[in-house]
Amino acid sequence: MYNLTRGLVYNANYSIIYLFDKEVFLMAKAIVDKETCVGCEACVGTCPVEAITIDSGKANINADTCIECGSCVSGCPVSAISQ
Ligand code: SF4
Ligand code: SF4
Repeated sequence: MYNLTRGLVYNANYSIIYLFDKEVFLMAKAIVDKETCVGCEACVGTCPVEAITIDSGKANINADTCIECGSCVSGCPVSAISQ
């Protein structure tokens, strides 16, 4: 079974296959710009592996858990997350 989200394809085990225009991209761990983050928590629900928590009013990403899917990047209203 496959889930289709924003051009990404991943299977039920979250083994990611990145597909876009038939090319394969390697992505990177997401990082948060703490100065820009306003702590709105919008990114928390976008993460399929619960890698994001809010600590002291700022988003924190567990790099060991992050599977580099990119969902949180587009989910941040102030563009505080990048890869
Ligand atoms: S890139 Fe994906 S897996 Fe990593 S923190 Fe963002 S939503 Fe979660
Ligand atoms: S969505 Fe953006 S501003 Fe909101 S908590 Fe996450 S990183 Fe911070």
